[in-house]
Amino acid sequence: MNTTGNPAVGDSGRSGPRLEAALGDITAEPVDAIVNAANSSLLGGGGVDGAIHRAAGPELLEHCRTLGGCDTGDAKITPGFRLEARWVIHTVGPVWHGGTRGEADLLASCYRSSLARADEVGASSVAFPAISTGVYGYPAGPAAAIAVRTVRSTPTKVRLVRFMCFNTEALDAYQALLDSQSP
Ligand code: ADP
Repeated sequence: MNTTGNPAVGDSGRSGPRLEAALGDITAEPVDAIVNAANSSLLGGGGVDGAIHRAAGPELLEHCRTLGGCDTGDAKITPGFRLEARWVIHTVGPVWHGGTRGEADLLASCYRSSLARADEVGASSVAFPAISTGVYGYPAGPAAAIAVRTVRSTPTKVRLVRFMCFNTEALDAYQALLDSQSP
């Protein structure tokens, strides 16, 4: 899958970044930075994390070994190595425990921290996966709402944020959120 033939859905007219949703593999995105839904070791895993490490090459793992892990809700940045993206922003989403353990705040923090890392290196385009919605079990609809609301409300110099969806249900959820002007 790639974004060709799946025109991104945008929401123009805001002073923050342009927000888009697209269907496809985040590892192929030609943006300045892609975000990885990592685990706290930063030493690789399955899902999008495994795909990013495979596409970036073994240098990414070597670099990640020097970082000392990452707390849930925080983010660290590395080069993209063999990826088209110049940087990878590794963030650690919360494991879903039913919503009573601060998961929503931690998930929002992932988006804020990732944008902060992007600003630090001057990345102007960033692609996010649906953090925590795979193995970590966060329900996709509420997670998408947090993603869109947090990016809309976080001051950043990033000009384009693309939410990469791995299936059409996710794309539809993001599309509905981006079409709505509510925060
Ligand atoms: P987490 O552990 O944070 O739940 P996962 O990697 O299991 O992370 O899943 C996060 C989301 O990323 C899921 O919605 C999954 O479908 C999606 N995903 C998996 N591989 C890719 C990929 N190559 N590009 C974009 N999204 C992906």
